[in-house]
Amino acid sequence: MRSKLILSPLLLAALVLAAFTIGTMASGKLPSISAAIAGAAPSAGPALLVQAATPPANDGKLRVIVFGAHPDDAEYRGAGVAMKWAAAGHHVKLVSTTNGDIGHWREAGGPLALRRLAEVKEVARRLGVTVEVLDIHDGEIMPTLETRRMITRLIREWNADVVITNRPNDYHPDHRYTSILVQDSAFMVTVPFFAPDVKPLQKNPVFLYAPDRFQRPNPFRADVAVAIDEVMDKTLDALLAMESQIHEGGASGDASLFPATEPGRTQRREAVRKSLAGRYAAQANNYRAALTKFYGQARAGQVKYAQAFEVCEYGRQPDEAEMRRLFPFFER
Ligand SMILES: [Zn+2]
Repeated sequence: MRSKLILSPLLLAALVLAAFTIGTMASGKLPSISAAIAGAAPSAGPALLVQAATPPANDGKLRVIVFGAHPDDAEYRGAGVAMKWAAAGHHVKLVSTTNGDIGHWREAGGPLALRRLAEVKEVARRLGVTVEVLDIHDGEIMPTLETRRMITRLIREWNADVVITNRPNDYHPDHRYTSILVQDSAFMVTVPFFAPDVKPLQKNPVFLYAPDRFQRPNPFRADVAVAIDEVMDKTLDALLAMESQIHEGGASGDASLFPATEPGRTQRREAVRKSLAGRYAAQANNYRAALTKFYGQARAGQVKYAQAFEVCEYGRQPDEAEMRRLFPFFER
């Protein structure tokens, strides 16, 4: 009885998707999940779940694009620094290269992709940034030529000064291939006749990696670190909109994590908030030397929460003065 109740909406969604797929396959177009669920006609453009792909105005402000594999990864990596950039009028876009449609222990498919899209839209709204989710199945992204073109176009369309992603040696295949795809675009964004439908960048962006715990073949190296103490609470408020991932535990969760009772939910909310804050506290502690380099010893010693980045060897290589221009947060 219970399983029937849980299954029927999924079955219904599957039927809608199947009917839609058959209909659109006949017309030779790929169905997009958003169109399938809404029952709307597919758009003529690429199969993307798009919130806002509009490039920012050419207003002299910085343009930052952050790539993650799933609808939560770019959010963790952008987080407080993204909020600081946005508050200063700079343009930040968070991109998920997959739609996250297997990222939960209980639910999957189109309805989960839409739920996660709604979550990251809410995070973006709270951070003051733009978000885009590519309609590629979770667990299935491959470093193909077509996807390399897609990533190259996204970086060009944003006219990025800074591109952020994870390092390529990571436990999750989607994380690995997303990093490879961004790296593979690091030179191609400037090459005029690669994906010539979008104008090449005149200036190669600076490519940065976010930190991870992996030690082989080499551990993360902090080339720059930014204090996010003053935006930590607001950043946590934003990130905690991703209930399916943070509270319910995503693909590794279970029903006990976020119980139906209000005291249980309050307890879980407090626990996840503390644990998330701990990640940024760890970055302040682990990368104190990078904080000291940019803030000076006295100020760096007081920083509680931070985000650190490593400069990728591909793309433009910034000196310290340029790093201070790209991260205009270091008062001395
Ligand atoms: Zn992920």
